[in-house]
Amino acid sequence: MKSNMQERGINSTFKKIIYESSEMVFLADDTYPYTIFYGNELFEKEIGDNLEQRNLVGLGLDVNSYIFKEELLLPVNGKEYAFALELPHENESNYYLFYRGKQLDGSDSPSRQEAIGFFQASQQLIGVGEYHLLTFVNALGLQTLGYKPHEILHVDLAGLIHPDDRTEFSAAWAKGKQLNKPFSISFRIQSKAGTFLSLDASFSFIEERFFVTAKESDPEPKEKAIRKLQLDLLNSTTEVKPVGYWIYKPKTHKISLDQFSADLLGTSKSLKLDSKKTPKVLRNSFKKVIKEVSAMNGPSAESELSFEVREKQTVKIKAAKGWDNGIEVIYGLIYDQSDYLQREEENSFFKSLFMEAPEAMFLVKDTGDILIINTEARKLFEVTESNLPAHLDDFSSKVIDQESPLDWIKPIEEFDNERFTRFVNQKNQKMTLAIRSKVIECQKEKFIAISFRNITEKVSLEKSLEENTEFLMNLTDQVPGGLYQMVLSKEGEMKFAFLSKGIGAVLGLESAEIRNLKDIGLAMANVHPSDLPQVVMTSVASAQKLEPWQCQFRVKTGNQDKFKWVMGAARPQRLESGEMVWYGYLADISQQKEIETKLDEARYAAEKANQIKSDFLSMISHELRTPLNAISGSVYSLLQESPSDYQKNALNTINFAVDNLIIMINDLLDFQKIEAGKLHIEHAPFNLEELLNQIIKGLTFHARDSKNKLKLDLAPELDLVVKGDKTRISQILNNLITNALKFTQKGVVAVKVDLVNKERDKVRLYFEVQDNGIGIAPEHQEKIFEDFDQVKPTFSKKYGGTGLGLSITKKLLGIMGSQIRLESEEGKGSKFFFELELEVAENQDSSIGTDRAKSTVSTALHMLMAEDNEVNALVLGKIITKWGYTYDRVMNGMEAVEAMSSGQQYDCVLMDIQMPVMNGFEATLQIKNNFDIPVIALTAAAKLEIMEQIKECGFDGFVAKPIDAAELHSVIKDVVQRFQSKA
Ligand code: ADP
Repeated sequence: MKSNMQERGINSTFKKIIYESSEMVFLADDTYPYTIFYGNELFEKEIGDNLEQRNLVGLGLDVNSYIFKEELLLPVNGKEYAFALELPHENESNYYLFYRGKQLDGSDSPSRQEAIGFFQASQQLIGVGEYHLLTFVNALGLQTLGYKPHEILHVDLAGLIHPDDRTEFSAAWAKGKQLNKPFSISFRIQSKAGTFLSLDASFSFIEERFFVTAKESDPEPKEKAIRKLQLDLLNSTTEVKPVGYWIYKPKTHKISLDQFSADLLGTSKSLKLDSKKTPKVLRNSFKKVIKEVSAMNGPSAESELSFEVREKQTVKIKAAKGWDNGIEVIYGLIYDQSDYLQREEENSFFKSLFMEAPEAMFLVKDTGDILIINTEARKLFEVTESNLPAHLDDFSSKVIDQESPLDWIKPIEEFDNERFTRFVNQKNQKMTLAIRSKVIECQKEKFIAISFRNITEKVSLEKSLEENTEFLMNLTDQVPGGLYQMVLSKEGEMKFAFLSKGIGAVLGLESAEIRNLKDIGLAMANVHPSDLPQVVMTSVASAQKLEPWQCQFRVKTGNQDKFKWVMGAARPQRLESGEMVWYGYLADISQQKEIETKLDEARYAAEKANQIKSDFLSMISHELRTPLNAISGSVYSLLQESPSDYQKNALNTINFAVDNLIIMINDLLDFQKIEAGKLHIEHAPFNLEELLNQIIKGLTFHARDSKNKLKLDLAPELDLVVKGDKTRISQILNNLITNALKFTQKGVVAVKVDLVNKERDKVRLYFEVQDNGIGIAPEHQEKIFEDFDQVKPTFSKKYGGTGLGLSITKKLLGIMGSQIRLESEEGKGSKFFFELELEVAENQDSSIGTDRAKSTVSTALHMLMAEDNEVNALVLGKIITKWGYTYDRVMNGMEAVEAMSSGQQYDCVLMDIQMPVMNGFEATLQIKNNFDIPVIALTAAAKLEIMEQIKECGFDGFVAKPIDAAELHSVIKDVVQRFQSKA
């Protein structure tokens, strides 16, 4: 200390002054920790002797806080002292002078109370700081928190505070600073060990400086011990084991122990090093380490010593230098080094852990010697305590696949790898085990832990799964065509996730080429360019509507230039992941397509043949009609010229034959019309009763000829004007009655018409034609309604006919919404019947549609006949002159137009269609354009187109050649009457 005074240039005079001062004086270094290097007698007596740390920092003073005030308040042992302060003079001195020290009797000042609390620091953590950086922490603070000074000083205080407490802390801080008022707060602060300590702290501020005193908020003693342990272990040991703590205060020669140390050493918590009560071994040991450490300097001053505290109980003490309230102390740790019991206990614990582990395990040496087989392993390998194998090789007999159990402990290269073994158990079952091993090095010896997992079940499951998969794969490969799975990812990427082998077969591709096909773009490139749009559009539609996709298209086969027809079909499914998946197949339909093509060709050929047939029929009927026309006309004329009975007979026979031919030709034409869908049903008024009478009358001759009775049974309500196609109804009944007469000999043909019901504007009629002729066998009853069908081919020879009548009848009725039915028994006769619904005409004038109406037409008409054929013209002329008509004949259409233009008046024009120079159509168009006169078409051409053209050209009527005289007469009277009534 003396040298200190000299070093600092304090001369003896000055020394004397302060020494003899009646007030307290002391001097302190001007550098951290501001060691008090001199105090006068009064100071030492009053204060200095009680100080544990002889420095300002130890007193909890921050020099910076009072250099501006030049006054110091110093609380010591519950008393407060005031000193005047002289600061070091630049370059002249390097110490602080504190003088005029006196005790304050002060009672009132709150700052004094604060100061007392502040400086009663021995059991408190004290910190001083500037702004928010710590500039000083007392020894207890450092020790409690576990920091060395350089680790905590000039560190931001906020950074040490528990994140959860920071907000509250900074709010209190800001408020305290603003009001310049001390505040108290509890918060948690981080220790060196990383744990948080709870502190109850008070802060006060002087300008930018802060002062804090803090106490741990009553940590449990045990907790405290643990924390210390943590801290100390952190600094001094790496082994984790229970540790005790001790501290030695040189001043008192006492060692304080924590409970653990006391227990371990078997002493009280306080040991007097000098006392004989303290066991010698403890005294010597502690003395030794304390001495060693005391002799050392610097922060690494440490020493340790092991000794036997009693039998089998070795402890180790560690010692280090430390500071407590500014006073040097020695502190340290105590470990239990022997730990025999504990180890024993631990051993048995770990052993039972190993033994009872849920996994089968061996502990072996690297030689293969077995140390432990745990319970699970004993079960697995079926061994018991009495027959425990001692070496891995003892398991050889059970292991199959010629493997040695010693392999189990061979190192495996790959990380985390398992090896597998199979062995036979006592029941002769084969088991599969997954084995892992791990080398454990302990006290330079190698041990290997082996674990076994019985995966027999898993393996067999996997196997059956594999078999299932194989089965499915087989199935996919064997089905004709190919199966695929196509995936559309959320990102819009499309690809085939699966393509079966069959795809290759369908497309004629090698398996390598199929792999390439997984890219949808490449797959699409194989589609025929003409089919591509359709494939794309249908796929998109399927995806959008989530509907099954199907498409026929051509794809390139292995051979680059060839395309082949395939059919693709798939069902889309949207997965939860947002992906779309299509499961589908691709089938080779080239054969089917070939057949389709052939069928198309065949249909085309058939249609063509049909067309030819139709054309042929038209042509034939045309060709037949011209001569028939001539025959019929000639016969008619001859009959008018009073022939002899014999001639008359012959003429009638000819007439009959011609009539038959006409019927046949008409049938053919009707059939053709119906086939072409060109038959139209008329909707004109006629009197039902009159029509039926007329039909029967028309067939009376025929009945007489076939020696049959023809009866008509009419319901009385049938004198009714209905709307319908009178020609077609006549045709149907004619057909049925003619057939009945034809297939009946000397029998009765009964025609019956009944009214089923009558509503306001509709009647439902029942028609029946029954005979007692040859009848029809059941097996023929359906067939006879088919085209060209007769019961026996010979019938056409015997009875004549074409087999078309009934088929036309059925079709006509079908068009009229009715159905013909038949009841017949062979040898007994047949009954054909049907029902018809007809509209009742509003105008029930009974004269409508009957011959009676034409009575007003003059019997002296003047006709213009345009006909190029001489025979036809002759016949036609003869017919019309019979009715008292007169006519002018022209040779073609042109002449007809000229005749009309000549000024000659005509009542009606009879116009042939096919004529040279100008045909009937052209001529009629011209005539109709200029004159108001009825024109009737006469043609043998039965072609449908011609019929249609006739309608379009404005003809008023139409009569087919060969001319039926009666029909012609009726048509003439009809059209003339229409024109007269118009005029
Ligand atoms: P066809 O011109 O041959 O008469 P249909 O179609 O009118 O043609 O009749 C077909 C066949 O039905 C006839 O050939 C005949 O075998 C049989 N058939 C039709 N009507 C009768 C009937 N009333 N009695 C017995 N057989 C009939």
